[in-house]
Amino acid sequence: MPKPVIEIKNLNMIYESEGTHYEALHDVNLTINKGEFVCIVGSSGCGKSTLLSILMGLNRASSGTVIINGAESTGPGVERAVVFQNYSLFPWMTARENIAFAVYQNSKKRQKISKKEALSIAQKFLEKVELSGFEDKLPGALSGGMQQRVAIARALACSPEILLMDEPFGALDAKIRENLQELLLSLLKKDTEKNTVVFVTHDLSEAVFLADRIIFMLPKRIHKIIDVHIPRPRIRADVLNSEEYKEINETLKNLFYDGIHNTINGEREAI
Ligand code: ADP
Ligand code: MG
Repeated sequence: MPKPVIEIKNLNMIYESEGTHYEALHDVNLTINKGEFVCIVGSSGCGKSTLLSILMGLNRASSGTVIINGAESTGPGVERAVVFQNYSLFPWMTARENIAFAVYQNSKKRQKISKKEALSIAQKFLEKVELSGFEDKLPGALSGGMQQRVAIARALACSPEILLMDEPFGALDAKIRENLQELLLSLLKKDTEKNTVVFVTHDLSEAVFLADRIIFMLPKRIHKIIDVHIPRPRIRADVLNSEEYKEINETLKNLFYDGIHNTINGEREAI
């Protein structure tokens, strides 16, 4: 039986600033089950980051609810970890300290561990993301791809049930991006411990490679949901050659261009 981990119900988000209102989400409903890898795609400004920030508990919806493991979310929680596009590491802490700090802080809300234990967990996760030898570097001395590996290690080291990622590889070169996609999939927990992942991207083929389910958004709302049945573990060469990969990519491209076309036409009509 699939177990719902995230339930989004009748979610609306209206931004208010200086007397003006902007509706960023309109009546969004979605249930995400335990262990699912869900990608959210859609053109710039359609509300992806807004939706994710509400799931993170960093933003409050104007109305509607987010239920995490059966209880209404009212803010961030230890079962959730986040990774943003801009790495968001503390620049004055080394790679190891960045991870250890997060692990230590997180443990206070669960079962407190010592700073020494946190440092050793950090070390273990740096090895997992292939950054042995860079433990004592400050983020500024690391490449973008390396910083993002530290950010992923930091998120996973906190042992989150839910991983929320907002265009985490968006600023990286294509090759590094592919490496990190594979690294991420290899690091996720398996079987009953499986992490639930919500991953925002505007790279359609990235979504097909990673996801079990793709949520295609148009401005303010979910337009279409596409299941991806490509077997795991996903070997890139096999995935790229599979009919399903090609078909879904094509479907997404068409949805994407239809969406842009309609938006442009809509705006023309409005003018
Ligand atoms: P996406 O991540 O899909 O590019 P966002 O969720 O960032 O989209 O933004 C959705 C819409 O909400 C955009 O039109 C954006 O300009 C608007 N928006 C986002 N954040 C704010 C804010 N803090 N105040 C006002 N409008 C915002
Ligand atoms: Mg965004």
